[in-house]
Amino acid sequence: MKEATLYRVLPDGKVECTACARRCKLSDGQYGFCGVRWNLGGRLYLMVYGKISAIAVDPIEKKPLYHFNPGSMVLSLSTYGCSWACQYCQNFDISQRRVLEGFEVTPEKIVELAEDYGAQGVTYTYNEPSIFMEFAHDVGVLARKRGLFNTFVTNGYMTDEAVDLLSKFLDAATVDFKGNAEPKFLRKFSLVPDPEPIFQALLEMKRKGVFIEVTDLVVPEIGDNLEYARRLARWIVDNLGPDTPIHFLRFHPDYKVDYLPPTPIKSLEEHARVAKEEGLKYVYVGNVPGHPLENTYCPNCGRVVIKRRGFDILEVNLTEDGRCKFCGAKINIGGKVQPTWRVSDRFAYVPIELLSRYVKVTREQIEELRSKVRVKVQGSS
Ligand code: SF4
Repeated sequence: MKEATLYRVLPDGKVECTACARRCKLSDGQYGFCGVRWNLGGRLYLMVYGKISAIAVDPIEKKPLYHFNPGSMVLSLSTYGCSWACQYCQNFDISQRRVLEGFEVTPEKIVELAEDYGAQGVTYTYNEPSIFMEFAHDVGVLARKRGLFNTFVTNGYMTDEAVDLLSKFLDAATVDFKGNAEPKFLRKFSLVPDPEPIFQALLEMKRKGVFIEVTDLVVPEIGDNLEYARRLARWIVDNLGPDTPIHFLRFHPDYKVDYLPPTPIKSLEEHARVAKEEGLKYVYVGNVPGHPLENTYCPNCGRVVIKRRGFDILEVNLTEDGRCKFCGAKINIGGKVQPTWRVSDRFAYVPIELLSRYVKVTREQIEELRSKVRVKVQGSS
């Protein structure tokens, strides 16, 4: 547990959390929609600071980030909770559990693990990182000092204050849209009032120099609307630029909508067609191993510059300075292709259960902290 920085005290004594666009206004003893940020005695606490639910080494392509340090390995970690409540969540066992528990780790330990496992970066993923932003910040600042990069996999539903904080350590982000960002779909199936803050956060991240790739999870029957996909692609071209990579992701039946079929591949291809028609240069189909739209094609000559299968890179046809080897056109690559692209298995299991204790925050601990804070706040006023 640690006092958050992303909040403010309101005149009526409540606190307003400023980590995500919900801006929950919480009375003493109340917790936010995400379940992990609590008002205790008039101050906001991140209750899962230093408590992680999962940790592993993954290829960066799994995030997916295809254009940022391709071929690298990233230490990936999560807490519990989320600022959304998606009925189709592909990670619901982590994100939709609102619990105050996890393996105890310090920022120093995480950075050490990343180095020990030969990762070039740290990724905050599996659940929404903006809800544990202060912990990500402390890990990220240290990681950057030690020469590692930091990336988020996020729903992008953030405030300007949150983007300001992440810009102090974040290098790249995968911003995950769902159901083509259709407002009705997001309201009904994710309990998101309005997607507008995502667009605002994207603009802010771009302004602050964060490398961006966009994904869109296409959920058949309920979140599969080509007209909205076209609008999304057009917005990206106009606001982030035609070089921004976009990935249309296949849904697999899960959680509360496990009665739906997987996304038809034809539908993903239609989305890709529409995005290209709108002018996006790097358009991918995700979660379909072996599909030709896993490859990066040179927008100038059409040849394959990075050949992939699943999360593996099979061939790189780029020069040292990120140009197409065939025609010399500049390809949008953040960082550089990492030599680890040749490693046959870039996944690694991290035995966190041997390295750390699994702890739960108890009701007594919460009450004790709450009363201490209350006394302090009263004493200082
Ligand atoms: S991060 Fe959590 S507490 Fe903060 S505004 Fe979002 S849902 Fe509410």
